[in-house]
Amino acid sequence: MTSENLDLPTPGDGEVLFVALGGLGEIGMNLALYGNDGAWIAVDMGVTFGDEDTPGVDVIVPDIAVIDKLGDRLKGVLITHAHEDHIGAIPYLAGRFKCPVFCSPFSAAFLKRKLEDDGGKGAKKVKIVEIPSGGRRGIGPFDVELIPMPHSIPEAHLTALRCGAGMVVHSGDWKLDPDPVVVPPADEARLAALGDEGVAALVCDSTNALRDGWTRSEAELAEPIQEIIKNAPRRALFACFSSNVARLRTIADAARKAGREVGLVGRSLWRMHDVAGGAGYLKGMPRFLREDELGKLPADRIVAICTGSQGEPRAALHRIADGQHRHVQAEAGDTVVFSSRDIPGNEKAIGRLQNRLVQMGVDVVTDGVAKVHVSGHPAQGELGHLYSLLKPKRLLPAHGEGRHLHGHAKFAKAQGVPEVQVAFNGDVMRLVGEHFDKLGEVHVGRIGIDGMARIDMAGDAIRERRRMREDGVALITIVLDERGDLAADSMVTLAGVDVADETEALDAAEEAVDDAIEDLSAKARREDTTVEDAARSALRRVLRRESSRRPRINVHIVRL
Ligand SMILES: [Zn+2]
Ligand SMILES: [Zn+2]
Repeated sequence: MTSENLDLPTPGDGEVLFVALGGLGEIGMNLALYGNDGAWIAVDMGVTFGDEDTPGVDVIVPDIAVIDKLGDRLKGVLITHAHEDHIGAIPYLAGRFKCPVFCSPFSAAFLKRKLEDDGGKGAKKVKIVEIPSGGRRGIGPFDVELIPMPHSIPEAHLTALRCGAGMVVHSGDWKLDPDPVVVPPADEARLAALGDEGVAALVCDSTNALRDGWTRSEAELAEPIQEIIKNAPRRALFACFSSNVARLRTIADAARKAGREVGLVGRSLWRMHDVAGGAGYLKGMPRFLREDELGKLPADRIVAICTGSQGEPRAALHRIADGQHRHVQAEAGDTVVFSSRDIPGNEKAIGRLQNRLVQMGVDVVTDGVAKVHVSGHPAQGELGHLYSLLKPKRLLPAHGEGRHLHGHAKFAKAQGVPEVQVAFNGDVMRLVGEHFDKLGEVHVGRIGIDGMARIDMAGDAIRERRRMREDGVALITIVLDERGDLAADSMVTLAGVDVADETEALDAAEEAVDDAIEDLSAKARREDTTVEDAARSALRRVLRRESSRRPRINVHIVRL
């Protein structure tokens, strides 16, 4: 049971309170709240994605009932970077909070594009205030500084939150890449200066906390990707995350070296192209060809970067594999490189797409067989190095599933971080103040976006959908006259319920339902619920014999 409590405690001026409404115990849907001196700020407001267990729901946002209750005590929403798991929920939750959204120019441009895509309705509800990368400004009780860090998108930030009680560092997503390709490496002197100033607590990325060593550099991909393009006899298609601007550069440079043209295929890549270009991150890159221009070139001159690395059915690569793309094809002899990682939950969809390509005679290259992807998150070597620069007194692992958070905590203790606590979504923690401990819990939840509808992921709708998909549906129609006697034979229909012989099973079911109703007293037959229950259990008995499935049963009673 999750807590029903919607009231956050009022933070005093000598403490910093912390609670996550998403992102602790999962990778995705990040939303953290920091409180000091009676007020709060939110850091990030992201989404997570649905999978085969969430029928009809592609996007899930955090339940922010706790933020509704805060009202004007929420002073700002600070965005660390423009990945969907950090910024993606803002268009869905716009209007639920009155305070501005603070972010760096690249993230602001990206967010504006997203809000405009939404028919412009969201754009009117959100006030965006830019803080330059490396800049500082006051938000509520906090003096906020954005410190740029390498990651798999430009303008990712570690944030220093200073207040009367001390300094908290929220790491965001980061790595210590010596050559991140489109952004400079981390400014270690700046980080060390924060450490000298005194970091009371660090809330830190745990994604790769179970891996030892250092995460490989983006620059290490240049050579293997050049080799693949040089040796590709025909088209070379790359599927990658559209936000990975450094990867676009690595692939574009490799294409140029091989004397090929490079183009982009897919809407989200073009959106990122425009935003990155506007922010100056495409400087020195060759011009990317449009989809129709790519389609006119001979196959052995093409390098195409496509959306759809996760096997998404509507994305470019899926449509290309299905022969449904207007301009770009894939044929035997082509090479398709998955320059990405498989996001957990998408493995089956990715596997299906890769199998389809292989059956067409396409050479599929994945991260497992060649160096075509690097992570954007810190492994243990980098975590240890960051601790040595910041010297935090307390550490709270974030951005991870339970196993990542616990692994990170164990590692941090072994590295000598004095106080380490693991918390999950909804745990209200005193981060700075006398004791580092849990003060209570507040309500957290997940809301599925299904078109215009908002669905509580813990409620009945998703359970019902899952059950209908697994076990099918049975429908009983019963017609009763004014005395409550059967006026016609009852009818049973099945949808998605496996039975050995459908006619036989339905005959048996209809007979059993009629018998059960006739066995009821005249008084009982006048009550709809009694009739429904009798019909339902009669059908259930028959299905236990005839089928391995336990479908959802709907009963319709028609009274003449
Ligand atoms: Zn993230
Ligand atoms: Zn990220």
